[in-house]
Amino acid sequence: MTAATDLLFRDDAYLKTSSAAVVAVDAGQVQLDRTIFYPLGGGQPGDRGTLRTEQGRIIRVTDTRKGETPDSVIHLVGEDATALAVGTAVTAMLDWDYRYRLMRMHTCMHLLCAVVSGAVTGGQISDGKARLDFDVPGNSLDKDEITARLNALIQEGHMVEARWITDQELADKPELIRTMSVKPPTGAGRVRLLDIAGVDLQPCGGTHVRNTAEIGPVAVTKIENKGRQNRRINIAFASQ
Ligand SMILES: [Zn+2]
Repeated sequence: MTAATDLLFRDDAYLKTSSAAVVAVDAGQVQLDRTIFYPLGGGQPGDRGTLRTEQGRIIRVTDTRKGETPDSVIHLVGEDATALAVGTAVTAMLDWDYRYRLMRMHTCMHLLCAVVSGAVTGGQISDGKARLDFDVPGNSLDKDEITARLNALIQEGHMVEARWITDQELADKPELIRTMSVKPPTGAGRVRLLDIAGVDLQPCGGTHVRNTAEIGPVAVTKIENKGRQNRRINIAFASQ
């Protein structure tokens, strides 16, 4: 189970469906030659959806994980995997409503990094809400102020773009790395940067919306004190 997969979501996060071929099957696990399914990582949950065979059989993908090697993606399908053999052609389809909410919330986390100064020590994105932990001393963070600044950045409609730099360029700019707990994956020769022009720039391999306006209204629901210098900021969509 170590086949490399063409990561279609990395170049186009808006792909909702694609054709693919099964390249490996194991107990409840399927690998494809190309995929639109994002695997759990970087605080973003794995995608869900379906694989449909040419005979019309529909196999449900309940979650997606990284494989053992870079660029390998495991689609978790439970017992349904018996319907698939290596070489089977399938049409993959995302649970797009779920993924799009994750994309909106994930992009909002980049805006939160721009609003709050301090190293990010952890984070988690889930359906409709997310949290980031910041290394910030004292009680300087204000819920209403952060909410207002986030919504201003959202409404301003900033473009969101990914681009690549070399490992060496990243090594020369350590200030780009905001997250202390998750080091960006280097060693492949290049690192993907997520650029919200003039707002936030950092390595990220996740899926994002094209424009911050797509995020929609959000609110800081809670700021928790998680240790002497650790503040957990919880965000949720203000309207679903
Ligand atoms: Zn990101």
